[in-house]
Amino acid sequence: MTSHLRIAIIGAGPAGLTLARILHQGGIATTVFEREEHALSRPQGGTLDLHLQSGQHALRSAGLYEEFLKIARYEDQGSRLYDNDGKLLFADDDADDAERPDVDRTALRNVLLASLPEEIIRWNHALRDVRPRDDGTYDLVFENGSSGPFDLVVGADGSWSKVRPLVSSYRPQYTGITFVEFGIDDVDASHPDLSALVGRGKIGVEAAGRGMIVQRNGNAHLRGYAIFRVPVEWADVTFDFAAPAKARARLAAEFDGWAPSIIRLIEASNDHIVSRPIYALPVGHHWQNRVGITLLGDAAHVMSPFGGEGVNAAMLDAAELGRQLLENEDWRNAVRTYEADMFERVVEPAEHAAEAVATELSHLGPELSLQHYRAHLEARRQGAAA
Ligand SMILES: Cc1cc2nc3c(=O)[nH]c(=O)nc-3n(C[C@H](O)[C@H](O)[C@H](O)COP(=O)(O)OP(=O)(O)OC[C@H]3O[C@@H](n4cnc5c(N)ncnc54)[C@H](O)[C@@H]3O)c2cc1C
Repeated sequence: MTSHLRIAIIGAGPAGLTLARILHQGGIATTVFEREEHALSRPQGGTLDLHLQSGQHALRSAGLYEEFLKIARYEDQGSRLYDNDGKLLFADDDADDAERPDVDRTALRNVLLASLPEEIIRWNHALRDVRPRDDGTYDLVFENGSSGPFDLVVGADGSWSKVRPLVSSYRPQYTGITFVEFGIDDVDASHPDLSALVGRGKIGVEAAGRGMIVQRNGNAHLRGYAIFRVPVEWADVTFDFAAPAKARARLAAEFDGWAPSIIRLIEASNDHIVSRPIYALPVGHHWQNRVGITLLGDAAHVMSPFGGEGVNAAMLDAAELGRQLLENEDWRNAVRTYEADMFERVVEPAEHAAEAVATELSHLGPELSLQHYRAHLEARRQGAAA
């Protein structure tokens, strides 16, 4: 039986919170330790599409499908591809795919947090170390104290997991791609021309070894990523992120010669500007089961964001581990089965993400992206016709 188990979940991201909710619903208590000081201490990032068989399935398992429908944006799934002269190469403006509606990351976190008793989450607990005890349980050491013992420690603490070293010596590797993130608030009112350029969804622009993705979030917010294939330290050396206006001007200069309408997306930005070097674990990353320790989501299989699978894979992990723990008499077996299934399940999305990051900004310019957009549209049409 698992109801007496002492379970610690490290990380209140989509994976950790979904697992905590599913176990809470099934009568299993957990404690979630999160390094952020409170729920709103950091913007949670952009929009995510939640897929029917993974992200949405996890929310159904968590009894939160109705809540999900309230935050899902079915209307914001269009995609367009421009060249750097501002010429439209591809447009799929009518997408309202039931299979992958968008949600804002902050809205998703709020739904998950509202579904849990407040005392489950321990904010301001940055894990430093996990210490095995002689009796097979574990103590947790935080920057500001300690806690334990726990029978099962679940690392849902993202790419730089402090739990992972207990089962794997791998660390994520830099993919060669860096995003510089920017944003425009209230775009419909403040910049109708840019609002029209992006439409109801996302746009991609790619040429001459540079790229840009700009996506519509809720509340008329645009989030953009300028994309570069550069050494990992390049962005921090090139941009003075502490002086946002200066950093934006420097970023716009990187796109010199591009259509003014596209450069304006950067010039008009008024949100934070930060670099996000993209890291990934090797495809097929796995480990030998260790009783009392497991990993979920990015901690287990961080991949490049190009396939849009990361959060979906993370939430499906949570649904599957939750199901195993609720259904299996022996919790050790539950974890072993979850891990074996997950290692296999994640290979395909991780391969796609690795392939996408390898071909991003290729010498073929936007040609590969155009093929990808067309294939996506065709798959959607076939799905609708089936
Ligand atoms: C620029 C960018 C764009 C992306 N776009 C998409 C997209 O469009 N679609 C998609 O599916 N995926 C996308 N992803 C990937 C997606 O963000 C992740 O796959 C997803 O967030 C993984 O969820 P998680 O819960 O496993 O980890 P995370 O979301 O990373 O959550 C981990 C949590 O653990 C906490 N934590 C970390 N370390 C500690 C510690 N030591 N102690 C305590 N707490 C800790 C963190 O504060 C965080 O709350 C994107 C990623 C990036 C970088």
